[in-house]
Amino acid sequence: MAQEKIPQATAKRLPLYYRVLQHLSESGKQRISSSELSEVVKIDSATIRRDFSHFGALGKKGYGYHVERLLSFLRNTLNQDELTKVMLIGVGNLGTALLNYNFLKNNNIKIVKAYDTNAHKVGTMIGETSIHHIDQLATDDNHDISVAILTVPAEAAQSVAETLVSGGVNGILNFTPVRLSLPKDIRVHHIDLAVELQTLVYFLNNFPLKNQGG
Ligand code: ATP
Repeated sequence: MAQEKIPQATAKRLPLYYRVLQHLSESGKQRISSSELSEVVKIDSATIRRDFSHFGALGKKGYGYHVERLLSFLRNTLNQDELTKVMLIGVGNLGTALLNYNFLKNNNIKIVKAYDTNAHKVGTMIGETSIHHIDQLATDDNHDISVAILTVPAEAAQSVAETLVSGGVNGILNFTPVRLSLPKDIRVHHIDLAVELQTLVYFLNNFPLKNQGG
């Protein structure tokens, strides 16, 4: 079916909608209004309605949205029927936590392979994921893995990222504080946890939220 291209801002919210709708469906909910959903996802209902309008005529006045229909749309759009394989580079504290967490519970995304330099870690497994030596990264056949999570120390980030790109990776979730310089067609999403936390504290101190109940 031909489908209108979804704006990037909307696309960014799809995984959140998907997760919340999955929970609602599991708890037996069959339909939901944009205002109810707005309460749960903390996104205003006008935005939700605008987002959902890109998916076609899924909502009806006075009825709301059909949860299963939305879910099946999102499952298709987010490619949830197909397993997306991911590799993780740098099995330190954060890398280990992400491997233990893995993502399969909520999404059809799985870290299938990890790399590290540490001889004590290489050859071991965390959950179902085996850890390989980073020197093998350039020569291993990882053509079926186009996404990588980067949790190496800052000083290793740029060169590891370049090796990843040479091997065919085109999406990197970068947990290091380094701003990577990579070709323009490589998508890098940057998550600097220290900055996120500092920003939260700054906002709490400088822009306290009003108590809406009062
Ligand atoms: P740990 O306490 O296990 O060392 P950490 O998160 O504090 O964890 P970091 O120094 O940030 O340690 O390193 C993260 C992981 O990245 C470590 O397991 C380290 O062995 C690994 N590592 C370091 N350099 C590289 C590299 N060039 N390629 C792949 N992995 C690397």
